Amino acid sequence: MFSVRKPVNRSRRGFKPLSLRQGVLAFMVVVCLLAIGLTGQETWNNRAADVHASSQQTTNLAQSLSQQATDSFQTVDGVLGELVDRAETDGSQPRALRRLQKVMSEHVKQLRVLHNLFIVDAGGNGLVNALPQLKNANYRDRPYFIFHRTHAGQTTHIGRTVRSRTDGSWIITVTRRLNRADGSFAGLAMATISGDYFLHLYNQVDIERSGIITLALADGTILVRKPFEQANIGKSIAKAPFFRSALPQTAAGSYENRSVVDGISRFYAYHRVSRYPLLIVVGVAEDEVLAAWRWETLLSLVELVGMISIVAILGGYLVRQIKKRETAEALLERLVLVDGLTGLGNRHQFEAVLGREWRRAVRAGTSLAFLMIDADEFKGYNDRYGHQAGDNVLKSIAGCISGALGRPADLAARYGGEEFAVFLPDTSSPGAFAVGEAIRRAVVALNIAHVGSPHGIVTVSIGVGRVSPNPNGSTSPSALVKAADSALYQAKSKGRNQTEPAATFIPTLAGVISEYVSEPV
Ligand code: GH3
Ligand code: MG
Ligand code: MG
Repeated sequence: MFSVRKPVNRSRRGFKPLSLRQGVLAFMVVVCLLAIGLTGQETWNNRAADVHASSQQTTNLAQSLSQQATDSFQTVDGVLGELVDRAETDGSQPRALRRLQKVMSEHVKQLRVLHNLFIVDAGGNGLVNALPQLKNANYRDRPYFIFHRTHAGQTTHIGRTVRSRTDGSWIITVTRRLNRADGSFAGLAMATISGDYFLHLYNQVDIERSGIITLALADGTILVRKPFEQANIGKSIAKAPFFRSALPQTAAGSYENRSVVDGISRFYAYHRVSRYPLLIVVGVAEDEVLAAWRWETLLSLVELVGMISIVAILGGYLVRQIKKRETAEALLERLVLVDGLTGLGNRHQFEAVLGREWRRAVRAGTSLAFLMIDADEFKGYNDRYGHQAGDNVLKSIAGCISGALGRPADLAARYGGEEFAVFLPDTSSPGAFAVGEAIRRAVVALNIAHVGSPHGIVTVSIGVGRVSPNPNGSTSPSALVKAADSALYQAKSKGRNQTEPAATFIPTLAGVISEYVSEPV
């Protein structure tokens, strides 16, 4: 039996405090978790900051471009208003048309936004346009012509982007109805704006490679989109989520979405164009906005993995060192307190336990029983069978002693040579006597031949002492040992192979029996 008892260290609530090794491991885990948490939070904040900055830029850009669109269409609208006045007042006589043509061509020359100007009669025939070299065509089937023919109001109508019938370029039509004096439909005045005018402007804005700028009708129909792709002209962005959710409520806003036109994820800002049923949408690709952030995140991850690796390596080294130290300490403790031959406590531990158990018994007001065990005729055994055989017998006796001790508080030690001591805290005299007898019988049961002994086998004699330690000093540890030693001497003189109680108590037969029945030993 390995008999080194360690004090159990528990906090008041009953939790076992962490060992140094567990503490180091817990510290490492906490440090790593903190690092992961902080890196994660910082990464998230950086992303939010980048997205916010980009959203501000796109919002400002959308606002500026929206203002620019208002200005352009207002200019065109002003010219159209003048043409409507002139055409309605002067009529469509050749002279009037010639005068009108001059005014129109002057406007087209002056204003870059204007591609061409037209006056169309009630039959859809172009009467005059600003560029005399262009032939007049018929516009009867154009949606804007049908619109004005069927709508009496004189509001400005902005049509979808179409290919010019006069020169084949992409144009946006801005039209107003002409009325006769009686209010009936007399045709329309039309200004065309080249899609290239806006495209040229939008191309000067730097929004990275996958950014977009869209000028759309209020119903979502694309008029102009940077980057230019013919197939996108006339497509609708009305399916974009913001169109139904945000746009009806707010004239401007920003959102993140996958493009309904080309499937690229972007951060968008939209802005309604004031006065006209138009809309500007600016979008920058998420990949491009977050490119720098992704690099930073990758670097942070590498740093984090590096840091965790260093903590793990250093921590692992520390834990290994602590483990080595703990193993060395345990070995040292064992060497200091344990008898090398029998594995029982040594004399050093005997002294320590005697003092400790004494004090404990004084505090608790309990008794302390003590057995002194001595191998009989052991010198003779050694002389006959040799020291090695003697050592083996001592080991076997130690096994008998350990086997007879049933309580966790019981403790056996090698007192010296072929002598052993057993502490039995809080044990009655009959109980202690019974333990002694159990040890003695166990040694007899070993049946180890010893021809030099009167019993013919190896036996032990046991002296039993017991005392209720007294705080007033009338009892002492050494008196207890002495009492057991005297009892042992008695056992020897009575013929050996016996258990002898100290003179201070003699167990009655009834006491021994009740002890066996009620008290596990
Ligand atoms: P008694 O019955 O009166 O106790 O006789 P004894 O021979 O046992 O007593 P004594 O004190 O004369 O001799 C003790 C002997 O125990 C001396 C020594 O040979 C033996 N002995 C003491 N320590 C050891 C040990 O560690 N190993 C071995 N093998 N023998 C030991
Ligand atoms: Mg002896
Ligand atoms: Mg002896």
